[in-house]
Amino acid sequence: MAAEIQPKPLTRKPILLQRVEGSQEVVNMAVIVPKEEGVISVSEDRTVRVWLKRDSGQYWPSIYQVMPSPCSCMSFNPETRRLSIGLDNGTISEFILSEDYNKMTPVKNYQAHQSRVTMILFVLELEWVLSTGQDKQFAWHCSESGQRLGGYRTSAVASGLQFDVETRHVFIGDQSGQVTILKLEQDSCTLVTTFRGHTGGVTALCWDPVQRVLFSGSSDHSVIMWDIGGRKGTAIELQGHNDKVQALSYAQHTRQLISCGGDGGIVVWNMDVERQETPEWLDSDSCQKCNQPFFWNFKQMWDNKKIGLRQHHCRKCGKAVCGKCSSKRSSIPLMGFEFEVRVCDSCHEAITDEERAPTATFHDSKHNIVHVHFDATRGWLLTSGTDKVIKLWDMTPVVS
Ligand SMILES: [Zn+2]
Ligand SMILES: [Zn+2]
Repeated sequence: MAAEIQPKPLTRKPILLQRVEGSQEVVNMAVIVPKEEGVISVSEDRTVRVWLKRDSGQYWPSIYQVMPSPCSCMSFNPETRRLSIGLDNGTISEFILSEDYNKMTPVKNYQAHQSRVTMILFVLELEWVLSTGQDKQFAWHCSESGQRLGGYRTSAVASGLQFDVETRHVFIGDQSGQVTILKLEQDSCTLVTTFRGHTGGVTALCWDPVQRVLFSGSSDHSVIMWDIGGRKGTAIELQGHNDKVQALSYAQHTRQLISCGGDGGIVVWNMDVERQETPEWLDSDSCQKCNQPFFWNFKQMWDNKKIGLRQHHCRKCGKAVCGKCSSKRSSIPLMGFEFEVRVCDSCHEAITDEERAPTATFHDSKHNIVHVHFDATRGWLLTSGTDKVIKLWDMTPVVS
């Protein structure tokens, strides 16, 4: 008897193109080589590998270089094929890759940090190499002379580094949860401002130079969009992960943010949506709906001979409400809450189904992501996981 054929629902999701395997330890960073079927990876196992797709359809190393120390981070400039590799011992090693990606030639070493290099950015326009280290230093070097140009001590170890070439502002996100903005000159820098919005450390930063918006991902599971260029200076929270946000990438042409987490989640956010800031939480001695006192309001409790209630907050209006007046949950995508959160009963009634429509899509990479790279020209996403595997995804079904 023939099985009944059910029409499959049309689910748009990333398509797994390739698994690139062979590293002995976790691949801390990797990039897709533009216009080539290739990947450059640096790993905790001390190797730098360039993987090219062979006739078999598999990716095999065309370059396999062992470094003196674990490779913590990298920056690759496709125009010059310059590869800057940050090492656990504080050194940055620079190489030039041959046109066919079969050879890498050493150029120079920078003694940039006292300990593990955490982030590197090579800025071709200024011939600068920006870096941060476990030594809590931000430093920049001239890539022509190899000379150190300047430095700045951050409040904690940095794990996010972005640069605006046009205005020479650098954004440094650190493990204390702070983002520091510096303005760089040739050999000096000035502190512009610092801001703080996360309750956990900053794990990743992503700068969109067109909209002048900075995204920060955190171990507190959230992403914050900082409207740096806008006059209002708004900060919008995006809640769509159940675990640490580990990596961010922005698809400028479609205005979508890709955030990846320790839960394996790949979340694609539509940033064309106008979102609102979450309200300040109001403080009150009693529920702002039913006027029942909260438990610390001893005097009123005594007067009314009532048992105090626990104070909760409606995520939509910010009012302090008791549990009874906020018994329902709702997602509020236009405030960045893709998951259900506590709302007061009147807000619950007021939220329309239209307002509840998700503004992000959720996908499972099936590995704990530590790093991502997005190749906008092909719509490919690279994810690197704690399972030592690199996965290549075709994102065009969801990033378009
Ligand atoms: Zn409310
Ligand atoms: Zn109440």
